Amino acid sequence: MGQTSKKRGVGLEHWLVPQWPAPNTVFAYVTTRIGGVSKAPYDSFNLGLHVDDDADAVQHNRAQLSQCLPIDASPQWLTQVHGNCVIDALDDGVVREGDAAYIDKPGLAAAVMTADCLPVFFASKSGARVAVAHAGWRGLLDGVLENTLKRFPDAPQEICVWLGPAIGQCHFEVGGEVRDAFLQASTSKQGVAQAFRPSDTEGKFFADLYQLATLRLKAYGVCSIHGGGYCTYCDEERFYSFRRESRTGRFASVIGLLS
Ligand SMILES: [Zn+2]
Repeated sequence: MGQTSKKRGVGLEHWLVPQWPAPNTVFAYVTTRIGGVSKAPYDSFNLGLHVDDDADAVQHNRAQLSQCLPIDASPQWLTQVHGNCVIDALDDGVVREGDAAYIDKPGLAAAVMTADCLPVFFASKSGARVAVAHAGWRGLLDGVLENTLKRFPDAPQEICVWLGPAIGQCHFEVGGEVRDAFLQASTSKQGVAQAFRPSDTEGKFFADLYQLATLRLKAYGVCSIHGGGYCTYCDEERFYSFRRESRTGRFASVIGLLS
C-alpha cells in the first residue's frame, strides 16, 4: 500500500460501498446506472458489452470505472455463463469465461456484471485474498458460491461475505421446478422451503435469493455474512433489472486488493 495514490474519478459518488468488516487492504464497490454515457434504454453507466448497447459508450464507461479504482490495473472482466467456474483474475486485458473471479495478489481487481442476479463479495479476514461471484438461481444451485470458497486456502470462518443488490423476493417469481431443485439439493429442507413464498399464480413462487445464498454460505461454514435487502426491480433509479426491462444495461460489482 501507499505507493498507489488514491484516484478520484468522476462517478464514484454514485456507487455503493459495502458495509462489511473487510480488512483495509480490500476495496469494493457496486456501480449504479448513474453517471455514464450510454443512451436509453441503457442509460447511463452500462458496463455490459453483450446487451446491444453502443460498444464505444460501454468502453467509455469501463474506462471511467477503472479511473475510479484505487489501483493502476483495470479490473478483470468476465464472460458470464450462469455457471460455477471460478477464474483467477489477471490484468492482461483478456476477458475470461466464468462466473466468479479470485484474487490473491495486491494491485488487482475483478468485476461481475448483474441486472437482477446476486453479486457476492468475499474477503479473507487476513486481507490477502478476495473474490466476487455472479449468482443467479442456476449458479447458486450449481455451487458457484461453494466453488469460490474452495478457492480460498482459508477456513470458512476466516472469510467474510457481502451480498450485493439483486432482485428482491417481492419481484422474483419462479416456477415450482426451481423450488424443487433447491429442495432436492439441500439438507436443510425447511430453510429452503422458507425461501420460497407461493405466488397467486398456481405452481409459481417468489424466491428469496439472499436467503438461498445465506443458507448455502452457512452450510459451508461461513458466519460473517452481510448485505442483502435490495431489490433491483424496485430501485429503478439506481439499478438495471432484466425482469423489469429485458433490454437494459448491467451494473458492476468490483473487488480488489490495494497494491
Ligand atoms: Zn421488488
